[in-house]
Amino acid sequence: MFRDKAIETMSSEDLQKLQIERLQETALRAQSVPFYRERFKELGLTPDDIQTYDDVKKIPFTTKKDLQQGFPFGFVAVPMRDIIRIHTTSGTTGKPTVVTYTAQDLDTWSELIARNLTMVGLTSDDVFQNMVNYGMFTGGLGFHYGAEKLGIVTIPAATGNTHRQIEMLYDFGVTAIHCTPSYAMRIAEVSEEMGIILDKLKYGVFGAEPWSEALRSDLEKRLGVEAFDSYGMSELFGPGVAFECKEHNGLHIWHDIYYAEIIDPNTGETLPPGHRGELVVTPLLKEAMPLLRYRTGDITMLMPEPCPCGRGMKIARMTGRSDDMLIIRGINVFPSQIEHVIKQIPGIGDQFMVTIERVNHLDEMTISAEITDEVFNGELDQLTQLRTRVVQALKERLELRTTIHLVERGSLPRFEGKAKRVIDLREKA
Ligand code: ADP
Ligand code: ZN
Repeated sequence: MFRDKAIETMSSEDLQKLQIERLQETALRAQSVPFYRERFKELGLTPDDIQTYDDVKKIPFTTKKDLQQGFPFGFVAVPMRDIIRIHTTSGTTGKPTVVTYTAQDLDTWSELIARNLTMVGLTSDDVFQNMVNYGMFTGGLGFHYGAEKLGIVTIPAATGNTHRQIEMLYDFGVTAIHCTPSYAMRIAEVSEEMGIILDKLKYGVFGAEPWSEALRSDLEKRLGVEAFDSYGMSELFGPGVAFECKEHNGLHIWHDIYYAEIIDPNTGETLPPGHRGELVVTPLLKEAMPLLRYRTGDITMLMPEPCPCGRGMKIARMTGRSDDMLIIRGINVFPSQIEHVIKQIPGIGDQFMVTIERVNHLDEMTISAEITDEVFNGELDQLTQLRTRVVQALKERLELRTTIHLVERGSLPRFEGKAKRVIDLREKA
C-alpha cells in the first residue's frame, strides 16, 4: 500500500532533479542562520553552486555540538512568530538539543508518519495505541498526528501503568502499537503474567533505540504482531525518517524529504552503498530549522540492492550509534549484538545489563542476564551449564571474554522508553 506512489517509487532521474532542487532551496533557507551564512561566506560558496550530488560534498558537516552551541534558538531560520512547536532531544548524549517547527513542518512530518503507517498496512479501520512519552520526546506527538491524519483511531496512551496499558489494548481491540522495543518486551511480559491474550494485535512499530533480530522474533511470537523497525531523530523532525516495509530487510529513508549520505566517521569521506559508516542527512523540506549535512552519529549503510516493493533508497538496520560502541580490550561491540547472541539461548529471559570495569588495567565485562522461571527452579547443574553456554556463545560469536551472572526473572530494571543497559565504570576511573 502506498500513500503517494509517484513520490515513493520515483525514478532516479526525476529524483535527482527533485533532490538537487530541494538541496538548493534548503541551502538558501539556511542563509538566514548566521552559522551557515558565515560558513558559506568563508568558503566562497553560494546555494546556486549546488548543481550535482558531488557539489553537496563542498558543504561542511553540521554536528550535534554545533546545535548545542546555538542553544536555544541559534539555528532558527524563520521569525519566532512563525514557530508553533518546540521539542527537545532526549539528551542521551548530554545537553538536550532544541528543535523548532513551523505549521508547514508539522504538516510535512505528520504526512511522513502517515506514509510510513500506510506502508506498514494500517488503514482507518485500525486502532492504534501510542505507548511512548508524550512530552518533549518527539515520538509521542509525532506519531499521534500522523496516525490521526490517516483517520486511524489513535490512543494517546503514553508510557507507564503497564497493567492499564494492557487493559486498554484488550478492551479497545487495539490492532497496532508503537513503543520502544524495550517497552514492548515489558508489555509481553506483563500481559503473560496477567493471562491476557491480545489476539486483535497485528502490527508492532518499534524504534527509538537499536534492537536485534532475535528480539524481533521474540516480540513477534509473544505479542502476535508483525514487527517493523522505525528510525528517526528529533533534529530531523523526529520519528519517520526511515521505516521498514513488508520486506523487513532495511529501512526506506524517504528520498524526497531527506538526502542521505554515508561517511567514514574518522575521515569524513563519502562511502559507497554497501559500506558501513555514519549516516549524514540533509533534510530537504525543513523550514524552521534547516540543517545541512547533519552528522547523526548513527552507524548504518546504504543498501546496494533495490527493494522488491518498488520504493526508493534503503538503509540497513542500526546496530547503534558510534558513541554506544563499547571497546573491550580492543574489541568493538554494540550492546545490540550482545542482545542478539544471548537472546537466542534457551533459558535466558528478557533482560540483561552490562557492567564494564577496569581491573589491573584490563577491561572486565560482566553481563547479568535474567533466566526463565523453569531454569531458576531447576537443578543447579542446569544453571552451571547455561552459564557455560552463554560464556562460550559470546566468546565464539563476538570474541568477548565475559563473566556471566544469571539472575532471577524480575531482578533487573525494566524500561518504558529507551533502555540503558550499559554501566561503564571505566569512565570514572
Ligand atoms: P537523543 O539523541 O537525545 O537520544 P532522539 O530521541 O532524537 O534524541 O534520539 C535519536 C536517536 O535514537 C538516533 O540518533 C538513534 O541513535 C536512535 N534511534 C532511533 N531510532 C532507532 C532505531 N530504529 N534503531 C536504532 N537506533 C535508533
Ligand atoms: Zn521496500
